[in-house]
Amino acid sequence: MIETRPTPDIAAAPPADPPATPRPSLPVRATESGAASALPPRVALSARKFNLYYGTNQALRAVSLELPAHSVSAIIGPSGCGKSTLLRSFNRMNDLIPGVRTEGVVQVGDVNVFAPATDVVELRRRVGMVFQRPNPFPKSIFENVAFGLRLLGLRNRGEIEARVERSLLQAALWTEVRDRLERPALQLSGGQQQRLCIARCLAVEPDVVLMDEPASALDPTATARIEELILELKARYTIVVVTHNMQQAARVSDRTAFMLNGELIEIGETRALFTRPGKKLTEDYITGRFG
Ligand code: ADP
Repeated sequence: MIETRPTPDIAAAPPADPPATPRPSLPVRATESGAASALPPRVALSARKFNLYYGTNQALRAVSLELPAHSVSAIIGPSGCGKSTLLRSFNRMNDLIPGVRTEGVVQVGDVNVFAPATDVVELRRRVGMVFQRPNPFPKSIFENVAFGLRLLGLRNRGEIEARVERSLLQAALWTEVRDRLERPALQLSGGQQQRLCIARCLAVEPDVVLMDEPASALDPTATARIEELILELKARYTIVVVTHNMQQAARVSDRTAFMLNGELIEIGETRALFTRPGKKLTEDYITGRFG
């Protein structure tokens, strides 16, 4: 996998002073009681005949899929098969790479991701991202989580504090850091840093959370905590996890997509894909014949 360091998004923007001009106010999500202004669409993410090229290298080939809302989808496949590229297509993180060209359609809900009129900042708020290596900013724990809120123009201290607390609670980190919110984030353990990055992503109230090998840099205990967290979060969010770890895909996901050489070979219910794969290539991969 080739990791890119994104810059102008909320999930991983470099620390900088918030812009002087506030963005429009944050939309309201479902309340604790479950009341929401609009029901989420059944299909959260989709691609139709989607091709992506890095210059002359075609990394995705006619990928078509639908990923349901409020579920965990895993993308598996050998290194270089296009997993991260597909993941990054859902919030146009690939835009940051020169020479990228796309064909076909990717949708988040009913938003056409690559349409020229699409507001990429709003898209990246709705579709957050967590990377392989935890990448907290060299700021306090509190400011890491508050960062995206300030970027979106939130100024009310009480509201920022409430959202920071809620995000840290959702990321299962609150009890460990509540007494040291002003301490540097970089003093946290690797697993805590990754949960902090998840809290930072959740603070701006996304619909979708993309996770690119979120536990591959962590020890087994921290990995187990992240996997538990993924299962907790799917009640509220649509989650897509890229992993090279098939056991992990089997543990956390409802659906699994298997990719090879830029093509989506097979997608289906996780248990079925691992026990009764429909394609010989999938069977060969999951039984360890290659990759
Ligand atoms: P995976 O996540 O499955 O390891 P990637 O999506 O990272 O695969 O890569 C798919 C293909 O796209 C590979 O051939 C890789 O070399 C190429 N690729 C990935 N990132 C870039 C990039 N930033 N610039 C050029 N080519 C890239």
